[in-house]
Amino acid sequence: MKTHAKVVVIGGGVVGCSVLYHLTRFGWSDVVLLERSELTSGSTWHAAGGMHTINGDPNVAKLQKYTVDLYREIEAYSGQDIGLHMTGGVMLAATKERHDWLKSIMAKGRYLGLDALLITPTEAADLFPLMDPDQFVGALYDEVEGHLDPYGTTHAYAKSARKNGAQIELRCMVEALEMRTDGTWKVTTNKGDVIAEHVVNAAGLWAREVGRMVGLELPVLAMEHMYLLTEDMPEVAAFNAERGREMLHAVDFDGELYLRQERGGMLMGTYEKACKPWSPEVTPWDFGRDLLPPDLDRIAPSLEVGFRHFPAFEHAGIKTVINGPFTFAPDGNPLVGPIRGLPGFWSACGVMAGFSQGGGVGLALANWMIDGDPGLDVFAMDVSRFGDYATMAYTNAKVQENYARRFSIRFPNEELPAGRPLRTTPIYDILRGKGAQFGAAHGLEVPLWFAPDGVTDAFSWRRSTDFEHVGAEAKAVRGGVGVIEISGFAKYAVTGPGAAAWLDRLLAGHIPAPGRMAIAPMLKDDGHVIGDFTLANLGPGGDGHAGFFIAGSGIAEDYHMRWFDRHLTGGVSVRAHGAGLVGLGIAGPRARDVLGEVTPAGFDVADFAFMDIRRVTLGMAPCTVGRVSFTGDLGYEIWMAPEYQRHVYHAIHAAGAAHGIRDFGLRALNALRLEKNFGGWGREYRPIYSPYEAGLGRFVALGKDADFIGKAAAARMKADGGKMRLRSFTVDATDADVIGDEPIWQGDDVIGWVTSGGYAHASGVSVAMGYVPRAIAETDDGWEIEIMGSRCPARLQRRPLFDPDGTRMRA
Ligand SMILES: Cc1cc2nc3c(=O)[nH]c(=O)nc-3n(C[C@H](O)[C@H](O)[C@H](O)COP(=O)(O)OP(=O)(O)OC[C@H]3O[C@@H](n4cnc5c(N)ncnc54)[C@H](O)[C@@H]3O)c2cc1C
Repeated sequence: MKTHAKVVVIGGGVVGCSVLYHLTRFGWSDVVLLERSELTSGSTWHAAGGMHTINGDPNVAKLQKYTVDLYREIEAYSGQDIGLHMTGGVMLAATKERHDWLKSIMAKGRYLGLDALLITPTEAADLFPLMDPDQFVGALYDEVEGHLDPYGTTHAYAKSARKNGAQIELRCMVEALEMRTDGTWKVTTNKGDVIAEHVVNAAGLWAREVGRMVGLELPVLAMEHMYLLTEDMPEVAAFNAERGREMLHAVDFDGELYLRQERGGMLMGTYEKACKPWSPEVTPWDFGRDLLPPDLDRIAPSLEVGFRHFPAFEHAGIKTVINGPFTFAPDGNPLVGPIRGLPGFWSACGVMAGFSQGGGVGLALANWMIDGDPGLDVFAMDVSRFGDYATMAYTNAKVQENYARRFSIRFPNEELPAGRPLRTTPIYDILRGKGAQFGAAHGLEVPLWFAPDGVTDAFSWRRSTDFEHVGAEAKAVRGGVGVIEISGFAKYAVTGPGAAAWLDRLLAGHIPAPGRMAIAPMLKDDGHVIGDFTLANLGPGGDGHAGFFIAGSGIAEDYHMRWFDRHLTGGVSVRAHGAGLVGLGIAGPRARDVLGEVTPAGFDVADFAFMDIRRVTLGMAPCTVGRVSFTGDLGYEIWMAPEYQRHVYHAIHAAGAAHGIRDFGLRALNALRLEKNFGGWGREYRPIYSPYEAGLGRFVALGKDADFIGKAAAARMKADGGKMRLRSFTVDATDADVIGDEPIWQGDDVIGWVTSGGYAHASGVSVAMGYVPRAIAETDDGWEIEIMGSRCPARLQRRPLFDPDGTRMRA
């Protein structure tokens, strides 16, 4: 066995073998995979082997498409038969809501080049005669769907990797991991030690145990999962004989079932509501190529629906029931990427759909390890999307919710309840008492809107019960003043003698003068946007609050901290405040009057210019107040230690009562920022866009002395112009607004995609933001945006709907 290697991959399941293959494919051949038993000895060997491209997240769908497209290639390259059956598949909707969901999935797929087709139940029954068409309202047909042999596929990756120079060591158990002082890793195994520059945790069912070897508690839980195999069915034989091909794959969302042909019979699997975690705390090392006892009672309700929807099953004999465990992260997506604080340690686990996603995971991780960047937008899979709040107990609650809802619809306005409330701010109960409806962001409860007594969110694809109330909140801000909890932002303190110079190199914008703030994009080496922040220079105050303050996206707190850490130099300290610093925002034309009444005499609010930031006492509480607002209105963001938040909130309300102050939530904030064409992280701003495409170019200071990260690439992108442009549109929508990821049409072509949008209540129009090709980005006519299967006329909104000159914000 090798004693030194550039990379040690732990785990010979489909994911580890894919990672190993991709590393060698991109030129790293000094790599070794260590497998404690034989290849496929975790979840992989008993998988049903189904794979498909369609996914609710277009970025994940892209990686799934890559995975499926890769199969023929690795089969040919390795010479290993992977048992590929590309049958095509139908997704079946038994309700109108599910049919709407299928329409949205089809629309999202358009600009990815996915050729899924909406068909009627009768058309679906012609393709898949086992179904009773009367039980369904519609279906989506996709020809890129099928199944393969899990063993053959894993071995195809492994053989391809070996052919490229990789080594695979079987019956080699990793027992301990230790980071050495020179930054390399000592990997202790039953066959001796290996010293490696990089270690990849692809240990599947044992990913938690391998994580614990380096002090990590990964948010992963294994769930039991069952599928049954029937005896040969005459209906299957008749179909095969008549059509000369196999049965299609089918997913029945309302029955929580998936089906496919297996030899002369059928395979039927369930994501049952009465789901069961397996080994929730520790995965036993003596588990291997084992199965769990079947429990048909647990899946009986799904089977009952199955017999109704697919009558032929009622007479089919059950040959075998397979029950095996496989792992999930709290949101069902993989956990991929580098681990903050552990240089050279990488995660490739929590992959619940290894045969749809394994190739994409291998591709992204290999890019990341070799080039320092995944090369794709993989935030949905990034291990950093979870923070410390994702404890084992939280993970347990969330994974069960996710499993039981795997085939359930998640409406765009639906907040899932498991594991909540977990992180709350001091005014949580006060806001709740006022009817606040909360969502969770990075585990923190954030108010979305305020419901009058007796009104709750009715989950829907269309405008719903919140519409008029969110509208009233938005209008109250534009017409007077509103207050919003903004603790959900990420907040960072950057201190130390080298702070200014470090930020000058890290961020693409100018460093503001003491007491001032600036919009600060952060770029990657390739010039794409990896963060968008408000940077404040708190000055050298000497009061313990000196230094710099950064506010950014809350969901990206760990993602950005990992980036900060990676680039940290001596003499600088970066700290995430988390909920140790909380915030309130006030906005609207009367905001200044209200603030003036809660500040002590002598503080001249009128003297407080746009983008100023100061230490101010509000009521009796010490706060930091910045004059900036995402509403685009006159506004202030107020930051304080948690113990003062109730006091400040009450003081603002007491002063604001005479001005008609109203609480507002994030949905109203969204409606307000859309009127200003303001983008947000994770939607308009992502690591696949250049600042010039994203409309952030004016904040990139190419002329500043500092050689900031991405400067040379940004200069090239500016000269070149890039391919796409972020644009805002008003849309002739009727009863549903865009959610995100809808296609943008120009004439008969899908040429772009929506990033976000909604109803801009104060302006009374529906708005969509999205990316379109630069060459036609100034075109006024011919735009359409597809909402729920209907192409709605749209107009380019060149200037913001509200206060296009920004006078109100700066007044
Ligand atoms: C019943 C069932 C049906 C499924 N059907 C499908 C399907 O149709 N389509 C689909 O895409 N997915 C399906 N899955 C899920 C799929 O099996 C997983 O997504 C996939 O197998 C995960 O692969 P992995 O490589 O991450 O983990 P694993 O397969 O668990 O592999 C991990 C490997 O790491 C090794 N290992 C662990 N610790 C160590 C150590 N310390 N030292 C050395 N080696 C170690 C283990 O021995 C094991 O071989 C199904 C799962 C089940 C249970």
